Amino acid sequence: MKERRKAEMINVDGATKVLGVIGNPVEHTKSPLIHNELAKRFGHNLVYVPFLVKEQIGDAIQGADALGIHGLNVTIPYKEDILSKAKEVDSLTAKIGAGNTLVRIEQGFKAYNTDIPGLLRAMKSDGVEIKGESVIIIGAGGAARAVALMVAMEEAKEIIICNRTMEKAENIAKEVNAYVNDKVAKACSYNNILNLEGSQYLAIQATSVGLSPDIDRSPIEDEAFFDKIHTAYDIIYNPDNTKFMQMATAKGKKSYNGLKMLLYQGIIAYELWNQVEITEEIANEIYGILKVSCE
Ligand code: NAP
Repeated sequence: MKERRKAEMINVDGATKVLGVIGNPVEHTKSPLIHNELAKRFGHNLVYVPFLVKEQIGDAIQGADALGIHGLNVTIPYKEDILSKAKEVDSLTAKIGAGNTLVRIEQGFKAYNTDIPGLLRAMKSDGVEIKGESVIIIGAGGAARAVALMVAMEEAKEIIICNRTMEKAENIAKEVNAYVNDKVAKACSYNNILNLEGSQYLAIQATSVGLSPDIDRSPIEDEAFFDKIHTAYDIIYNPDNTKFMQMATAKGKKSYNGLKMLLYQGIIAYELWNQVEITEEIANEIYGILKVSCE
């Protein structure tokens, strides 16, 4: 009955544009909620659906082109693969080395990364500044690498990348320094993080530690770390209050989760597909719906 009510909300006809998300897995995606709600608000005749792509990503993109799919989001494990499959790649996306959005162009699709501008817009909306800040990035996977480039572009004063596998943190620091032609970034091990001087860091948590169902863990378990920071920004949104965030709050520090990043990456993709500008008022409405769906 619940499923039927959902289906009745969308009036599909011969002119309906189809968009979707491709990845594996896609069962738990929140993206259909974001895009179908936006379509309702704008009165756009489109429908957004999940497509499970088990492995043939090239075939999936070619097929989507042939079917006239209007646009796609791309999630794990294909964020890097799509750069070689798309007809064009946006320049920032090429630099980041991973994309999450395919926008229709004359001959196929152009790849964009909306995760990073999405995180930036989320931080702005939360009132978290980057310019001139000393930033600790925890993690050195795909998301952390993109976050490191973003905070460098936003003119952070210093960037410390802390990761279990030191070599990955060192590689990102080198890449960031080459990009900004400065020695703004350095790697740091978990063992040395408490030796950092200073007590006013912005910490961005970009590992998968603490992600549901692993909710009782934080990548840094020593509470003394939280004396060194003023804000804990966790890009995980499930659970909504991660252990990392709880430990920061316990020390009276500000904490934020990654739900707004998810919201704004979707909003920027929707803007690219449909040439509209989404106001903060609409963004807040969709955020409210997303929050309820996570409860
Ligand atoms: P990834 O490339 O697989 O990187 C995983 C990171 O977590 C690496 O730094 C890894 O360290 C670290 N890690 C994993 N298990 C660990 C452990 N037991 N102890 C210490 N470190 C550990 O993943 P990703 O794509 O960067 O994603 C990272 C997180 O960001 C995920 O939780 C994802 O849900 C979240 N995310 C959120 C959004 C959003 O819209 N809010 C968007 C993208 C990603 P090693 O390098 O040492 O293995």
